[in-house]
Amino acid sequence: MTNPATTTVTGPVHVTAEVLATKTAGAYQHLSLVAPGVGERSRPGSFLAVSVGDGHLARRAFWIHRVGPMGGHRAVVEIVVEQRGPGSRALAALPAGAPVEVTGPLGRPFALPREPARCLLIGDGYAAAALTTLAERLRERGCGVRLVLGGADDAHVLEPLTARRSVGQVEVAVGDLTAAVLRALPEAEVVYAAAWPETQRFVADAVAGTEVSCQVALERPLTCATGLCHGCPVPVLDDQGAPHVVRACVDGPVFRAGRVDWKALT
Ligand SMILES: Cc1cc2nc3c(=O)[nH]c(=O)nc-3n(C[C@H](O)[C@H](O)[C@H](O)COP(=O)(O)OP(=O)(O)OC[C@H]3O[C@@H](n4cnc5c(N)ncnc54)[C@H](O)[C@@H]3O)c2cc1C
Repeated sequence: MTNPATTTVTGPVHVTAEVLATKTAGAYQHLSLVAPGVGERSRPGSFLAVSVGDGHLARRAFWIHRVGPMGGHRAVVEIVVEQRGPGSRALAALPAGAPVEVTGPLGRPFALPREPARCLLIGDGYAAAALTTLAERLRERGCGVRLVLGGADDAHVLEPLTARRSVGQVEVAVGDLTAAVLRALPEAEVVYAAAWPETQRFVADAVAGTEVSCQVALERPLTCATGLCHGCPVPVLDDQGAPHVVRACVDGPVFRAGRVDWKALT
């Protein structure tokens, strides 16, 4: 018989979640979801897939920004929604109390350094949500954490004040992040980037051939988000440099920057 107290909780679950709270902050809508089992299983870099009632079959992916107690619930999951198309608009418009179909947590999470290390986190726009619990875990492990937080404009920089309170060393870069990244890189032993592909490509180039370990959280348009449909191909190179194609949703979305075949990534 299995002792529930010692059972490891793994794997995604599919649940009907409830919107517990919703708020607008800058350009984003933050949704707090009561999604039993999702938060408990979540790790830094996990995402969830939401089915939105807009008549579209494809589920929409969102980084798990925070997990914590709220309103008497143990592990409420917070996501950050930028309204880009029909799915995100429908999601952002949901009121508190609305049900929503959620699958998660999904994807391979960030790998954490075994020893305390100087870590540079690069977060651009809503994608910075992928780094919130990562920063917490790294600090718990005694790592130094420096965050470069970007956005197209002030409204698209995700929670700079909260980041300053919780991370400490934060540089906000509105518009182009590259100068801030170049300033921070010489200090870094480990880099994590959750940003637009151009920024990730820039970071990958900057650390190539160095001792710096770098992981990127890649966003590819997803369809099923569970590995079945093979609709989110990512070109990678194996250790011998031979090209392969893997799936972003289950083989990623976090990849070693050096594994991604950036020339083939469109
Ligand atoms: C792992 C992962 C995590 C994500 N996390 C978040 C998040 O935390 N917050 C958030 O707001 N969005 C996030 N996204 C992006 C979000 O899932 C898409 O923008 C989604 O398509 C929105 O659905 P829609 O119906 O509103 O727009 P759609 O009609 O599906 O798309 C709107 C526009 O965005 C483009 N697009 C769609 N998906 C992507 C993508 N992955 N990358 C680049 N362009 C895309 C489309 O081509 C179109 O131009 C994430 C995506 C992935 C893969």
